[in-house]
Amino acid sequence: MDRLKKLFKSNKLKFTPQRIAIYQLLKNRKDHPSTDALYRQLKKSYSSISFDTVHRTLLSFAQIGLIHVVEGNGDVKRFDPDTTDHHHVRCLQCGTIVDFHNKSYDGIHVPPEINKIFHVTSKKVVLEGYCNQCKRIVKPEKEHAKWKKRENVR
Ligand SMILES: [Zn+2]
Ligand SMILES: [Zn+2]
Repeated sequence: MDRLKKLFKSNKLKFTPQRIAIYQLLKNRKDHPSTDALYRQLKKSYSSISFDTVHRTLLSFAQIGLIHVVEGNGDVKRFDPDTTDHHHVRCLQCGTIVDFHNKSYDGIHVPPEINKIFHVTSKKVVLEGYCNQCKRIVKPEKEHAKWKKRENVR
């Protein structure tokens, strides 16, 4: 808690009970929740909390390096309390994101042409596919599922 207080202070972020609650809640989650998922849970104990407050707080946490934003592909932002090196495997159907560690991925080689134009500071591998739950549903009617997903977005 002291570390959190110091980090907030050095970044001129107010140490409010709501902010602490947002962090504590995220810290115990392994599923890389979205703002909405956290908001719905927080609302039970903090009835006056707004979606916007939760979202802005999460973004400022990410800005000071307390949490990470999961590298997305146009979907809603997902948040990761684990800022140590690890990789993700993501389900394209249900959005499940699972952490994993792999030594050979950690040591992945940066191509020399990239090193010429970029100073690479972190290397993360994202594997995509279908989780066991979705694999069964998606395979026979993959096109249909894709179409349904698009309909939901509208
Ligand atoms: Zn899935
Ligand atoms: Zn993660």
